[in-house]
Amino acid sequence: MSLTTEPGSVSSPSDAQDAQDAAPPTAELSAPAVIETFDPRSDTLLAVVPDLDETAVRAAIARARAVSGSWSALTYRERTRHLLTVRDRLLDRAEEIVEVICAETGKQRAEAVTTELMAVCETIGWYAKNGARVLATQPVNPGVLAHKKAWKRYEPMGVIGVISPWNYPFTLSMTPVITALFAGNAVVLKPSEVTPTVGLAIGELFEHDTWGDLVQVVTGGGATGEALVRGGVDKVVFTGSVRTGKRVMAAAADSLTPVLLELGGKDPMIVCADADLDRAAKGAVWGAFQNAGQTCMSVERVYVEESIKDEFIDRVVLETARIRQDADGGDIGSMTFAPQVDIVESHLADAVDKGAKVLVGGTRLDRPGLWFEPTVVVDVDHSMDLMTEETFGPVLPIMAVADSDEALRLANDSVYGLNSSVWTEDEDLGTSIANRLQAGNVCINDCIVSYAVAGLPFGGVKQSGIGRVHGAEGLREFSNVKSVLSARVGLPRELWWFPVPPGLDGLGIRSLRLRFGSTVGARLRGLRKH
Ligand code: NAD
Repeated sequence: MSLTTEPGSVSSPSDAQDAQDAAPPTAELSAPAVIETFDPRSDTLLAVVPDLDETAVRAAIARARAVSGSWSALTYRERTRHLLTVRDRLLDRAEEIVEVICAETGKQRAEAVTTELMAVCETIGWYAKNGARVLATQPVNPGVLAHKKAWKRYEPMGVIGVISPWNYPFTLSMTPVITALFAGNAVVLKPSEVTPTVGLAIGELFEHDTWGDLVQVVTGGGATGEALVRGGVDKVVFTGSVRTGKRVMAAAADSLTPVLLELGGKDPMIVCADADLDRAAKGAVWGAFQNAGQTCMSVERVYVEESIKDEFIDRVVLETARIRQDADGGDIGSMTFAPQVDIVESHLADAVDKGAKVLVGGTRLDRPGLWFEPTVVVDVDHSMDLMTEETFGPVLPIMAVADSDEALRLANDSVYGLNSSVWTEDEDLGTSIANRLQAGNVCINDCIVSYAVAGLPFGGVKQSGIGRVHGAEGLREFSNVKSVLSARVGLPRELWWFPVPPGLDGLGIRSLRLRFGSTVGARLRGLRKH
């Protein structure tokens, strides 16, 4: 393999070293821009991939556009057949893909299988079963125009630009990619610069004699992403931080390119006095620490009623102390991105400065790589970043509250609104709190797993995002809806065309009364001339 800027190429660290050794020491030859990617479990260089520029991105969009027309002409059944072939290829290469994901993210293997591969297989299955129905042309009652017929039709948009993050680099790339394809679009995917080889592995899954250009993968950093947003795609589907999401939306505004934004969260968990404490404690620990806390849907803050606080915290501490940190056979792996570890440390330092107490964890592990101890913090409040900003690491802050009303008020006291959970044995109370939580997603007596239900739309309110993936709403995000009106009966002219018939205003008012009067008397007035 050689170091090259051709899209889709990847070289190993030793290739990069060979290339450097072989390069003449002259200033004239400018080296192609590259990105280095690391294994966060050991801090070792993993691969070097091209950092593609605007020209390369535009070329990828053009290749995708060239094939999008013939793809959009296929039936849903034909598109499904292609996606099922891709799923079979994914199943054939499952071990290899899990390895690529774990090497670049530091994830524990079982976690990669369930949250990355299983979620994608499930979503493809949902489209195979339900997609054609969701995107079927639907008749619409023509209402006042009773002599017409009307229908709405879902049409492909063209080329969708997908920009994805590093925390679930497979599922958060594949989900928009397969959705876009099912809806009849071509795709240009820009994976995170932290996990580009996962993006390239996705590209390989779609290699095909006829449809090879349908999914273009462009590796690179923020500038590559911005080039995609500004490159003339028909929609941008972005998953990442609120900060970058705002930039993406601003850049897309120049050309009024529509955006779907899946952004960050500060997801609250409410533990009511009557909760099953063992389940709630175990759920909190799993919800906060799986994927080393780097999940947009993680339990990021807990509000527990005062009366059960001590018992709940004791159980959480006990469960946390049992967690085994080892990518091979442990419960959780390493963190993925070095700057994220800095954020975790800064949130902890800020909280401790303001009076919080760390009960367990709190530091990096003394080993190479990005290993941070699962950490439980108490005596926290909303003056601390730990309770208001996204920490995105293995930290579980727990705050005692007087009752569930106070918990709800604090849970909603956030600019975010992605995920949330409520834990209670009282089904009515759970549903009532779920209904009042300002969040796109709520679990009752569970957390995070709602994403696994491919039929449930997923997304945020407030600054956690715009639009949905998954389910009927998510699939329709990748289509343009076209409204069509046609004649039911052929007439030589419409009543309101020119010349306007005399008396049309009076006739109009009488028919308004006849049609819209809320009582029989009011409607009968429509039969009278005055
Ligand atoms: P990020 O915002 O730093 O980067 C996301 C992607 O945007 C990367 O591919 C990056 O290269 C690209 N990018 C950077 N600058 C850009 C620009 N100016 N224009 C276009 N693209 C640009 O996010 P991250 O650190 O990779 O991911 C973590 C964040 O993602 C967290 O906030 C997390 O909550 C959020 N997230 C949200 C969801 C969700 O579904 N709501 C899922 C996972 C992660």
